[in-house]
Amino acid sequence: MLQKEGYNFAFDQKACKNCSGYCCTGESGNIWVNKEEIKKIAGFLDLSSDDLVKYYLTKTHYKYSLKELKIKGNYLCVFFDDKNKNCSIYEVRPKQCRTFPFWDYFKDNTEEAFKECPGVKKSNYSVLKNFRLMADYLCIDEIYYILCYVSCMIGYPFQMSAD
Ligand code: SF4
Repeated sequence: MLQKEGYNFAFDQKACKNCSGYCCTGESGNIWVNKEEIKKIAGFLDLSSDDLVKYYLTKTHYKYSLKELKIKGNYLCVFFDDKNKNCSIYEVRPKQCRTFPFWDYFKDNTEEAFKECPGVKKSNYSVLKNFRLMADYLCIDEIYYILCYVSCMIGYPFQMSAD
C-alpha cells in the first residue's frame, strides 16, 4: 500500500491487476509529456521523436499531450490496449501516469480519486503522522523531566545549555 504525505488516501497497486483501466479511459483529459519522455517512448516504439509527435501526440499551446481515441462516447489514451486492458507502453509511461493517483488535484478532490480508481483506499496517514510528531515531542519532554529528576536526586541539578 503506497501512502504519501499530504494525501488523505492510500493506493493499493494490486488493484491494477483486476482494473479495466479507469485511469487511462473515461473523460477526455491531458496526459502531458516532456522532451525526455517523448524520446523514451519513441525509443521504446522504435520510432523517431518526430514520428511519435506526428502520430501519437497533440499540441496544446506549447505542451504535448498523448492523443485520445473516442470509442462509444468514451475517451481512451492512444496507448491504452483495450483488448488486454493495460498500458502498451507501461515501462516508459509518462510521469503523470506513474504518479497517479498522487496528483495535486486529488489533494482537494479526494472523493474523485475514490470514484476514479478502485485502488484508492482510505488512509490514516495524517492521523498517524500527527500522533508520531506528538509522541516525539512528548518523548523529548519526558526525557528532559527524567534528567531533571535524576540529577536533583544525585545532587547535580540538570540544566539545559543556554547556547
Ligand atoms: S500512457 Fe499508459 S498509463 Fe498513461 S494514460 Fe496512456 S495507457 Fe494509461
